[in-house]
Amino acid sequence: EGADFKAEGRYADHMKKPNEAASEFSRTKTIDEQRRFLPIYGCRQALLNVVRDNSVVVLVGETGSGKTTQIAQYLHEDGYTTFGVVGCTQPRRVAAMSVAKRVSEEVGVELGQEVGYSIRFEDVTSENTVIKFMTDGVLLRESLTEGDLDRYSAVIMDEAHERSLNTDVLFGILKKVVSRRMDMKLIVTSATMDATKFSEFFGNVPVFRIPGRTFPVDIIYAKQPCEDYVEAAVKQALQIHLSQPPGDILIFMTGQEDILCTCQVITERLLELGDKVPAILVLPVYSLLPSELQAKIFDKAEGGARKVIVATNIAETSLTVDGIFYVIDCGYCKFKVYNPRMGMDSLTIFPVSQAAANQRSGRAGRTGPGRCYRMYTDFAYKHELLVQSVPEIQRTNLGNVVLLLKSLGIDNLLTFDFMDPPPQDNLLNSMYQLWFLGALDNTGSLTPMGRKMVEFPLDPTLAKMLIFSEGLGCVDDVATVVSALSMPTIFYRPREREEESDACREKFFAPESDHLTLLNVYLQWKKNNYRSDWCTRHFIHAKSMKKVKEVRVQILDICKQLKMTVSTCGSDWDQVRKAICSAYFQNAGKMKSVGEYVNMRSGMPCHLHPSSALYGMGVQPEYIVYHELVMTSKEYMQCVTSVDPEWLAELGPMFFSVKQPGETRAEKRQKEREKKAMMEKDMADYRARQEAKEAA
Ligand code: ADP
Ligand code: MG
Repeated sequence: EGADFKAEGRYADHMKKPNEAASEFSRTKTIDEQRRFLPIYGCRQALLNVVRDNSVVVLVGETGSGKTTQIAQYLHEDGYTTFGVVGCTQPRRVAAMSVAKRVSEEVGVELGQEVGYSIRFEDVTSENTVIKFMTDGVLLRESLTEGDLDRYSAVIMDEAHERSLNTDVLFGILKKVVSRRMDMKLIVTSATMDATKFSEFFGNVPVFRIPGRTFPVDIIYAKQPCEDYVEAAVKQALQIHLSQPPGDILIFMTGQEDILCTCQVITERLLELGDKVPAILVLPVYSLLPSELQAKIFDKAEGGARKVIVATNIAETSLTVDGIFYVIDCGYCKFKVYNPRMGMDSLTIFPVSQAAANQRSGRAGRTGPGRCYRMYTDFAYKHELLVQSVPEIQRTNLGNVVLLLKSLGIDNLLTFDFMDPPPQDNLLNSMYQLWFLGALDNTGSLTPMGRKMVEFPLDPTLAKMLIFSEGLGCVDDVATVVSALSMPTIFYRPREREEESDACREKFFAPESDHLTLLNVYLQWKKNNYRSDWCTRHFIHAKSMKKVKEVRVQILDICKQLKMTVSTCGSDWDQVRKAICSAYFQNAGKMKSVGEYVNMRSGMPCHLHPSSALYGMGVQPEYIVYHELVMTSKEYMQCVTSVDPEWLAELGPMFFSVKQPGETRAEKRQKEREKKAMMEKDMADYRARQEAKEAA
């Protein structure tokens, strides 16, 4: 847990002179002096004037110029917090937390008092809070209960260039809000050149540019395409460390797994090199890293050792660390993409865009001339990378957006004011999914089920599972399952101890279900007074379990607010399996051979993962549902539960029916086709009606 990659301060005195410029600066100057040194400080008054004279301002400035940390404070100092809260949205949870912490220090107050943050499942604000950082998802939810966002005097939409899904929906909503509320200010910030597009969207509002202060960055491309970007990046980092002058290194990797691997390999190689090599402080940064560990990236390394920060694209624009002189860009990033063939979102690794690559290299030129090593060729950059990343709205499952917009009373999604409207097919697909989950009726309106679903910050499927479980008397149990599913994994499988940890995990197996296995772990943990040492002994992540417990409390709070009956089914776990089936019947599989299933709707093959509780069973169940498919060497099902075929027919009647005696497969297919056609006709009628209404 919390692996510490610090290679201890051997040969600390080898590097006499610590990094120049800003690191030294931040160590020796007071916070006030640091604030005045930021590029944005030079145009503070000019900015406040533009804000006073306009409802909406687009603000552009290099990363590190002080947009995120300063603007809310400037508005506060200029009196905007006397009649409301200054809110600042971030596309990432990590950024919201870390920036709030920094700003509370700058203002000189305790975090959670005048300056606070609010992210999903974690609200660190109080009545005193006047500067509030939050994820854009939180502000969206607030707009649901408080349509005009009356308690805000100003909203800063930070990192708008990221074009997260929530940001894009907020754009449409806030555009309406500012047109109704003359007293509200909206500032949209961006690190890149989308500014004109933003300005046009809000009706040609002014674009304010913060003069930059950057140094040239030398770009060095790979001579040939690299086979393994982790290996290539590690080699490059060590080469810099051994041959280049002092200066910290920032490595861009795709996600947690790559990052931890990179950190580990660097540390190992360094140990192999022995005592002659100066020490390095290796620090990972990714969104699930606990915040105390994240904060470490801002600390100076002991004895002036070189720092190597290995980060996701969070370090592209959201977090700025001073003293970086070298950037290593692996050339890839992870995106959540909706895969219509699988009918679900999946995190997939893609090449970065040219815009992102340039942001990455820019990080090397903040405190002096720098260097960026790209682990891809010049040719690849010019001919294979997209110019801009595709906005999330164009590549996601829009289920939650559809629910949200419907609940905001925006009925015709096809005409919502999106900056870049999502493909109509994706919208219709999401509506289709919400329809078969029972959230939309045949006319496309929100059902009572859909109305409840909006209240949960969960995927529509998980929300359905929870809401449906009320009738089965197992909300308490399903809440545990849902919370556990919100963690990437709760099991710990350390290298070299795989067998031992596997054996330990097996003891928790509920042979009919991976979901129930999770429930079982939780109940055992509870029986052992939620002890951390119990987790460690059983190869379970204590931190993840604590988080599961927290999420569970939050979910149950919402259930109580909705006046749902929270009860447990005790040992009658069939009820829990049925609840799972009610939400995941679209992921139903029928056994083909041992360990191999086919998706009953798409016919796609899907395999039991060797870590599944069902894998080692003598007789595997004939029918199952799974949580998601993950593509590695083949399509593996994650989290599988056996189900009764009757449940499928009962809970997913639009897809399944119990075969009538004498009915042939062809007849059954025909029936399914008819049902689907009926549904499509309903949708088409609905659209036609909407369009007619629009035209009238
Ligand atoms: P921008 O939003 O324009 O990219 P920021 O306001 O995030 O700029 O950063 C301004 C400065 O504040 C940077 O030099 C950065 O290093 C510093 N800074 C931001 N967060 C922290 C933190 N948690 N600890 C120390 N310094 C920080
Ligand atoms: Mg920023």
